[in-house]
Amino acid sequence: MAVEGSNIQKDLNPLANAERQFEEAAARLNLPPGLKEVIKRPRRATIVSLPVPMDDGTLKVFTGYRVQHSIVRGPAKGGIRYHPDVTLEEVQALAAWMTWKCAVVNIPFGGGKGGIICDPQKMSKGELERLTRRYAADLSDLFGPESDVPAPDVNTNEQVMAWIVDTYSMHERRTEYAVVTGKPLEVGGSAGRREATGRGVLFCIREACQHLKMPLAGARIAVQGFGNVGSVSAALLSRDAARLVAVSDVTGGVHDPNGLDVAALLQWVADHRGVAGFPGGKPLATPIVEYDCDILIPAALENQITADNAGRVRARIVAEGANGPTTPDADLILEKQGVFVIPDILCNSGGVTVSYFEWVQNRMGFYWPEREVNERLEHTMVEAFRGVLTKAVEHKVNMRVAAFMVAIERVVKVIMLRGVYA
Ligand code: NAD
Repeated sequence: MAVEGSNIQKDLNPLANAERQFEEAAARLNLPPGLKEVIKRPRRATIVSLPVPMDDGTLKVFTGYRVQHSIVRGPAKGGIRYHPDVTLEEVQALAAWMTWKCAVVNIPFGGGKGGIICDPQKMSKGELERLTRRYAADLSDLFGPESDVPAPDVNTNEQVMAWIVDTYSMHERRTEYAVVTGKPLEVGGSAGRREATGRGVLFCIREACQHLKMPLAGARIAVQGFGNVGSVSAALLSRDAARLVAVSDVTGGVHDPNGLDVAALLQWVADHRGVAGFPGGKPLATPIVEYDCDILIPAALENQITADNAGRVRARIVAEGANGPTTPDADLILEKQGVFVIPDILCNSGGVTVSYFEWVQNRMGFYWPEREVNERLEHTMVEAFRGVLTKAVEHKVNMRVAAFMVAIERVVKVIMLRGVYA
């Protein structure tokens, strides 16, 4: 069924999916009348047209978005994505997931997300810098440490964050590091931020294994997407003696049922910009989500496990490194098969948790050693995982519904205390 105003199939529309996940959890909570609409809808959505001088002398106009889903629990928080397929609906969905994610790990942020329709693979560094600066300048009224704090997402990185700091600071006439997170260490970044999402995935998987009485040592891991989240998850899990048996990215996939050499693979990807052709494994013939493994980590994009392929997922645990990789219809199938899904709003929340630590450090002007960052992250993630698991057991629901219930309750509690301004 097509969604109004969109040609995307309903099950593959991230906004429809985010709303369906929300509705399922909200229906189990006794919410005050009217409040459901208040917390479901985005607070503000902004569209900007961004003229950028290109290297060949032409002028190209890009479309950018920033959605603030909620600022009830604190400043809007969420990454900026550069991708040719970015849509306002996708950004809205990602912004809503950020609200629930920050609430699940109980950090004092609301939810936001940004995106620009562009193909960074086909742009020079200079073009990307000019595009980023124009976007940051146009949205500088929204952005700010107390109001809206972006971070990296797909195809944006520390360098992009440094350009935003600089642009925002030029407008403010003073250096303001706390306006974005995920910055380079030299520009107010936090130790441990780059690895934080993958490390959080590791902590969640450890907890899930403990719950399922399944040893992590020797477990076979398949990872889709070998960027920040996928590669760090794989590297850290292999340190816990898990075996990376298959990996894929935009260039292709490789596998070895006996285990791939993660260090050699990382080096190959650094040299060749993708996993394809890695000589330490064989080319992957099956789609990675159907690969025979114990733990599957989708760490690329949305809608990778759908009603079409969920029945062929062979993993015992699906740990969602990406946002929205599993559609609600696929969720029903996985649940029937007894697959334990660690939902995105819990599983990949390590990144925003350390972003919060980075923001705190910027505001204190005092920086913590990596050990302290990692310890605080572990404490936060383990507490969040156990809170969600307790809710799941108590209400006999899966981990996704439980995570949404925890998050919605926290947001509603704050609204009830603050009241609705009229
Ligand atoms: P990234 O750009 O560093 O990496 C993305 C990876 O996905 C790349 O290896 C790319 O080749 C691969 N990919 C893209 N399309 C693919 C496809 N069709 N099949 C297989 N692989 C494909 O991005 P990232 O920061 O690692 O983000 C990945 C996911 O994790 C996104 O959903 C993002 O929203 C989510 N996430 C990221 C963070 C973070 O801190 N970076 C935090 C929370 C969630």
